[in-house]
Amino acid sequence: MPQLGFGVWQVPDDEAEKAVATALEAGYRSIDTAAIYGNEEGTGKAIAASGIPREELFVTTKLWNADQGYDSTLRAFDTSLEKLGLDRVDLYLIHWPLPSKGLATDTYKAFEKIQADGRATSIGVSNFLPEHLDKLTAETSVIPAVNQIELHPHLQQRASREKHAELGIATEAWSPLGQGKGLLEVPAIVAIAQKHGRTPAQVVLRWHVQLGNVAIPKSVTPSRIKENIDVFSFELDTEDLGAISALNEDRRIGPDPATFDVA
Ligand code: NAD
Repeated sequence: MPQLGFGVWQVPDDEAEKAVATALEAGYRSIDTAAIYGNEEGTGKAIAASGIPREELFVTTKLWNADQGYDSTLRAFDTSLEKLGLDRVDLYLIHWPLPSKGLATDTYKAFEKIQADGRATSIGVSNFLPEHLDKLTAETSVIPAVNQIELHPHLQQRASREKHAELGIATEAWSPLGQGKGLLEVPAIVAIAQKHGRTPAQVVLRWHVQLGNVAIPKSVTPSRIKENIDVFSFELDTEDLGAISALNEDRRIGPDPATFDVA
């Protein structure tokens, strides 16, 4: 899985085709969509039009909350594949754990069947807290390949990252730039950016890379799409990493997975 991918949340279907095409031209090979984003069709069109061999691409989509449950998961997956115009995805994720519904294990058993049938190369989860991972791994056979969680310098998720390391799960950061809100103006980040002749977004994405996270920044602006993947020719030093580490506030932008149950 490429360590840097392109996320398309909040990109309308017609704009997704253009944004994904721009990302593929810029060199991204990993695209993160979801059934609930409503842009699997646009994403699929851009993939088809790109002419890039399928095996060079890494396509992720996610099962929406309302479709949790064994049979409904199998049906929802068929719909996602059809919209994407693909015969397999590289990664299929349970979007939220929904602990109040208690359906994650049945849902994941359908994921295991989808993987066994060769229609999702890897399966995983999103927004699972350590306790959700403990329960899921106790009740199912395949360790999730990935847990995609909110993660940025204001929410560094140390407990989750430790749990992932213990279980052998890759950590994927959503809203890796903190949605751009304020984080990119934080003086410590601006100072590190000036020191390296880079932008604040590049510094934050480079921090993810050096931490070992997979990151999937989103932008619809071509110059930013290019800027966000150009983070492999400089390195943050120990002092930079320490300064960013000190920015943790355990502050979420998105919902708390312990209570989020919107279907
Ligand atoms: P992000 O942290 O990627 O921030 C995106 C915003 O930051 C942009 O809309 C833009 O305003 C700004 N930005 C982007 N590049 C910039 C640059 N170079 N300079 C200045 N500003 C810049 O936030 P996101 O879109 O919330 O998250 C990224 C992806 O993560 C989503 O598109 C989606 O694929 C995924 N995601 C998953 C979940 C989940 O529940 N699994 C939830 C949210 C997002």
